[in-house]
Amino acid sequence: MSLIAAIEDNHQEFIALRRDIHAHPELAFQENRTSDLVAERLAAWGIEVHRGLGKTGLVGVLRGSRLAATGKPRSIALRADMDALPMPEHNRFAHASQNPGRMHACGHDGHTAMLLGAAKYLAAHRDFDGIVNFIFQPAEEGGNAGARAMIEDGLFDKFPCDEIYGIHNMPGSAVGHFGFRKGPTMASSNRFDIIVRGTGGHAAQPHKAVDTIVIAAEMVGVLQTLISRHKNPIDVAVLSVTQIHAGDAYNVLPEETIIRGTVRTFSDKVLDDIEANLRRVAELLPQVHGGSGELKFHRAYPPLVNWDEQTDFAMKVAQDAFGAECVDGNTPMHGGAEDFSFYLKEVPGSYLFLGNGEGDGVHREDRYIGMGPCELHNPNYDFNDALLPIGSTYWVKLVGAFFNRSAAAAPA
Ligand SMILES: [Zn+2]
Ligand SMILES: [Zn+2]
Repeated sequence: MSLIAAIEDNHQEFIALRRDIHAHPELAFQENRTSDLVAERLAAWGIEVHRGLGKTGLVGVLRGSRLAATGKPRSIALRADMDALPMPEHNRFAHASQNPGRMHACGHDGHTAMLLGAAKYLAAHRDFDGIVNFIFQPAEEGGNAGARAMIEDGLFDKFPCDEIYGIHNMPGSAVGHFGFRKGPTMASSNRFDIIVRGTGGHAAQPHKAVDTIVIAAEMVGVLQTLISRHKNPIDVAVLSVTQIHAGDAYNVLPEETIIRGTVRTFSDKVLDDIEANLRRVAELLPQVHGGSGELKFHRAYPPLVNWDEQTDFAMKVAQDAFGAECVDGNTPMHGGAEDFSFYLKEVPGSYLFLGNGEGDGVHREDRYIGMGPCELHNPNYDFNDALLPIGSTYWVKLVGAFFNRSAAAAPA
């Protein structure tokens, strides 16, 4: 493990910054204080700041000192997310959340601080031929798609990026352990509503009604065959029914039953097939019984698919900087969803996992009996400050290697 000395020297500064963000968590598209703080730091280091993309999102633009006067400059984008979660924090340390019901339980405070650490260093060492775009995005959590909001506000038109990279901390993996994966890496997340309509009536006279509860009960079973019988077994996907709503009385057959649930897949093709099959079952099965059905299908985040070449490149940077023993090139697929996937549909890039230490949190000084695990979205989670100089060093090495590589690849 070889950290950049100047970044190591700044460790305390960025621990304080990270804990300040942790103590003031803000929800999706409300990251005003965090956005102000990031903008103020970037500007102080001489980085050009552009605000108002995706409401609270911002971009820091750093031009290299060797940037050619003509021609299209090469550019790399590094992304951090800034939003917190709508949940209470159970930690007792001094930097615990001061905003009731809000918590940085996914480490976005740490992602922001790691990227700021790299920005400060690069602003003082801008001896490269190109542009670094630091993307600080809002609203990654809860299907709010801050990444998409920034893209719709012209992110890649205003700030062209040849490649984009992202990091997420990973509890349960050793501190400073880098996890990479090519291709499908995180799931798409999608939700559906099926409205089954029939004819209401007296529970003692079912022959005069069309019973939507019986249809819905049958449908829940049939929906599982979309995974077990209609999908190729080697493709990974999940369909879960999570809600059924109908009826208010013991003796009334309700005229409507609503089924809700979620679908996760690792490819758009598998998702397209499941949605088509789901629509067929939702619309036709009730007709068998004289009713009707309607499907509402909402695609929240697409699957996160890492690009091969950029993943190889990012992995090589980690191996060179920290040693091959710290790098896993075949980290398991993750069933969670992540809106970095929207960027990867537009721009080549890769998204990696950086170990946050064991999930039991034994590394934490404030650990007490009865404390919950240090896992993502747990009320006892905390970002591990030991990662700050590791992540910042990695970002700086990635930028250096990117401009060296693209200089070598450019025509003479
Ligand atoms: Zn999260
Ligand atoms: Zn997260």
